[in-house]
Amino acid sequence: MTELSHGAAWMGGRIIPISEASIGVTDWGLTHSDITYDVVPVWGGAFFRLPDYLDRFFASVAAVRMNILMDRQEVHAALEEMVAASGLQAAYVAMVAARGPNTVPGSRDPRDCSNHFYAWCVPYVHIVKPEQAEKGTSVWIAKSVRRIPKDSVDPRAKNYHWGDFTSGLFEAKQEGFETTALLDHQGNVTEGPGFNIFALFGDRLVTADQGVLQGITRKTVIEIARSKGLTVEERPLPFDEFLQADEVFLSSSGGGVIPVVRVDAHSFSNGAPGPVARSLRSTYFEWLEEPRFRSPIQYG
Ligand code: PLP
Repeated sequence: MTELSHGAAWMGGRIIPISEASIGVTDWGLTHSDITYDVVPVWGGAFFRLPDYLDRFFASVAAVRMNILMDRQEVHAALEEMVAASGLQAAYVAMVAARGPNTVPGSRDPRDCSNHFYAWCVPYVHIVKPEQAEKGTSVWIAKSVRRIPKDSVDPRAKNYHWGDFTSGLFEAKQEGFETTALLDHQGNVTEGPGFNIFALFGDRLVTADQGVLQGITRKTVIEIARSKGLTVEERPLPFDEFLQADEVFLSSSGGGVIPVVRVDAHSFSNGAPGPVARSLRSTYFEWLEEPRFRSPIQYG
C-alpha cells in the first residue's frame, strides 16, 4: 500500500495524497455550493463507460456556465494519471468543476470568478454495503423535505445542493432505515442520495423521466432491461402507484443495481430481493467487465 492507494487527488496538474487536497475558503464552490461534478467508476483496472460520464460532466459544466480551460482529452488524461498513480483497480473517481474565488476585489459577479478543475479518487464506494444489497435494502421516504424543484436547481447537472438529501438521511437513520428517497411537490418519486429508483410492475419497469439526474447506471439498467425483453417507461411515478410495485430497486455507479425490500412500512417481493432485480444486478456486474464499455488504465 502506498499513501496514494488510500486516495489521490489531481490539483493544478499535481498528483497528491487525498489527505493533502483542499480548496480555498473563499472559493464559491464552498461558500455557494457552486460546483458541478461527476463520478465515474473504475472496475478491474478500467473506467466503465467513460465517454458517457465525460459527456454528462461537460454538459453540466456548460449548463452552469463554467469554463475549466480543459478539454475531454485533458480531463481523461488527468483522471488516468491520477488513478494510475494511486494503483487502485476499483475506484470511485470524482471530477469536479468549481466556480472558484472571485478575483476582482469587492465583486459579486459570478463572471469574475476563476473556475477550476480538480479530481480525486478513493477505493470503490458501494452506497449500500454489498452484504446488505444482496439481502435487499430499506428506504425511508422523507417527510420533512421534498426534492428541490428542478426549475430551482437542475438535477441533471450533478451538484452539491444536498440539503434536501441530508435532511432525508437524518430522518432515515432516526427511523432505522438505510437510506432515503424524496418525492417532488406533485407527490412523484424522484431519487435519493446517489441513486435513481426503479419500480417493476409485471414486465414493465418504470423510472422517473424528470426532476432527476440522468444516471449512467439508470441508462445501463434500461439497456439491460430491454435486452431481457422488459418494457421500460420513463415517466412520472406517483408514490401511490410506486407502493403497488412487484419489485423496487436503486441504480447507482456506487454498486449498480441495489434491490429494495422495505419502503416505510411497506415490504416488497416478500421481504427478499425479487428475481428481476437480482438478474439485473448480476448482469450489471457482467457489463462492468465488457470490453466495449471499458477504457483501460495504463498503470506505470
Ligand atoms: N441521482 C443522484 C442525485 C446522484 O447523486 C446519483 C449518483 O451519484 C445518481 C442519481 C445515480 O447516477 P449514476 O448512475 O450516474 O451514478
